[in-house]
Amino acid sequence: MAENVVVLGSGYAGTGAIKALEAAGDGDVGLTWVSDVDHHLVLHESHRCIRDPGVREKVVIPVEEITSPGTSFRQGEVVDIDTADRTVHLADGTVEYNYLLVCLGSRTAFFGITGLREHAHTLKNIDDVLGIHEDVVSRTAEATAADPVRVVVGGAGLSGIQTAGELAELRDDRGLHVEVVLVEGLDQILPGSDPGLQAALRERLERRDVRIRTGEFVGKVDDDTVYLEESIELPYDVLVWTGGITGREAVADADIGKDERSNRIHAGRTFRTDDDRVFAIGDCALIDQPGNDHAPPTAQAAWQAAAVAGRNVVRAVRGQPLRRWTYDDKGTVVSVGEAAIAHDVSLAPFVDTFGGLPARTLKKAIAARWIRDVAGTGRALRAWSEM
Ligand SMILES: Cc1cc2nc3c(=O)[nH]c(=O)nc-3n(C[C@H](O)[C@H](O)[C@H](O)COP(=O)(O)OP(=O)(O)OC[C@H]3O[C@@H](n4cnc5c(N)ncnc54)[C@H](O)[C@@H]3O)c2cc1C
Repeated sequence: MAENVVVLGSGYAGTGAIKALEAAGDGDVGLTWVSDVDHHLVLHESHRCIRDPGVREKVVIPVEEITSPGTSFRQGEVVDIDTADRTVHLADGTVEYNYLLVCLGSRTAFFGITGLREHAHTLKNIDDVLGIHEDVVSRTAEATAADPVRVVVGGAGLSGIQTAGELAELRDDRGLHVEVVLVEGLDQILPGSDPGLQAALRERLERRDVRIRTGEFVGKVDDDTVYLEESIELPYDVLVWTGGITGREAVADADIGKDERSNRIHAGRTFRTDDDRVFAIGDCALIDQPGNDHAPPTAQAAWQAAAVAGRNVVRAVRGQPLRRWTYDDKGTVVSVGEAAIAHDVSLAPFVDTFGGLPARTLKKAIAARWIRDVAGTGRALRAWSEM
């Protein structure tokens, strides 16, 4: 009889794993896919909807465009995992599994900063992104050049930088009175990345009139002011927080080895957790890498891991040895509105950091390739112009 493999989450990790499982399984694997939404969101391009909500159609891919007929999909919110009973508890029922692949992504970390959770927009699903557009645009009705809508974006990682870029593009496309401020607690934007890339991104953002403040952590937020360290006050109308990620509450009580503070699940290089029947990938997991390291919480890593994890779960079902995975950093491509900056990309080994049409085309190609892999060439072609 077929073993039931259950995949939780429809982000890059879950969607990629479903495709890999469908390709590798051969009647010996029954597939059940569970997510709280009925679609896959191309999250790493979702910031485009801040400028143009019409892009929604391009970045939201219904599950029925992704799955093969044999895969069953169940929409529901995971609230707990009982590993002893091999049962996933949903808000409205249960799903039993023989093997489980957890791909629940991350939630926003607020680091206990007073007022932040209550006042900030986050960026985790399509409603979040559309909510930012709506909030900014609705406030511009009253704005003037002397009194613009003040938007503060907290956190200058991939999401914060690309969000600030889209806000600038929205402002300039529509001639709106909007001021964009990007705040980063560490000394540089895109912390931990190459200085050349950081400098190129800063130059591009500043050219688009994004004000950047680095080296000052957010200490407190109330309903109209962000308080930075050293008593600096930043008045705001709209606040977007992209300053960090943490694991999902849904696995907090599950008997699976995890970081107790963040709930991110410990997984070995085969993606197996300390429970033989449970695997974990994507942002919800801390996946071992050589040198006591972990895979980064990026779409690129989730995408790569999913292809191997899907095949590994099938190998586990068949009692075959599992493959070990090593993350292969293929470089970074970051958008700033219509422009993009690429760094250290394996496709262009002789150029370090570049922008212009090549970087912009590469950014589009990355998104289009992913969309083609999960939902076919037609959908990828239709999305091309908006990426
Ligand atoms: C604006 C933005 C720009 C980004 N840009 C880049 C980039 O340029 N390059 C890059 O590599 N990365 C980028 N990232 C990061 C990247 O998007 C994430 O690392 C990636 O989405 C992680 O994939 P995942 O599948 O682990 O999680 P997610 O994509 O977050 O998917 C998690 C899934 O689980 C579902 N889910 C969550 N909780 C539950 C529950 N309790 N029950 C049922 N289902 C649940 C969610 O609905 C979702 O389908 C960006 C992120 C943002 C927000």
